[in-house]
Amino acid sequence: MGKPDWSKFDWTGHTISNYKVENVNNCSLKFKFASEDKIPMQPARALELGTCFDTLCETGKIPDDLKLLNKHDIAVIQERYQEYKKVMPAGKKQVPFQKSVGYKDWSLIGFIDLLPDDFPNAPIIEIKFSEEKWNSRKASYKVMQATIYAWALDHDLVEFHVMNFKEPGLQIFPVPIHEIEIDKMLDDVVKAIEKIESGIRKPEENKLCGWCNYQSLCPLFNTNDLEVK
Ligand code: SF4
Repeated sequence: MGKPDWSKFDWTGHTISNYKVENVNNCSLKFKFASEDKIPMQPARALELGTCFDTLCETGKIPDDLKLLNKHDIAVIQERYQEYKKVMPAGKKQVPFQKSVGYKDWSLIGFIDLLPDDFPNAPIIEIKFSEEKWNSRKASYKVMQATIYAWALDHDLVEFHVMNFKEPGLQIFPVPIHEIEIDKMLDDVVKAIEKIESGIRKPEENKLCGWCNYQSLCPLFNTNDLEVK
């Protein structure tokens, strides 16, 4: 939530985040553009909405460097925040974690949005802000993220608190995590690490290509070098 404090981590070994695991497993070229070449992505509205809401939860203030949101968007975010404040569990926000994945010196790092004061008797909480109403299918896309949090804190329940731009204002999706999800997640993490270590970076067409910010740099989409006959 808000701006993460990356100084909390031990950087002496190799580290990987959920974002990098998903990126490299989807497409090693996209991973190169984003994480190695650090080519800035186009700011996405969905990302700015989420960051704005997270910052409000964290600091009680709207960030002053917004580029894509208008006054109406900010009014909705503030309204949702006022509603959520009434039910938001008390707890620590933006909790960092770092845990060895059991492969060489690699560790997984990240931040938990909200850890309630009565944890471990309460679930780990991940807060999302969305322009759509969520359904359980959409929530299931996020199981890897939930699994990482559950594994990192040795817990078995994560709750997604989704603040919708439209009604309903708040949806809650509890995600119980079992050993089978943890095994799969760790397999995916090791697969991602092996891909990174292999040094091979190539375009890998996937279902997210349509949303990829690097299409103009990607040989599969960049048609500048097509021969004109
Ligand atoms: S458009 Fe698809 S194949 Fe090309 S870099 Fe992006 S994700 Fe990879």
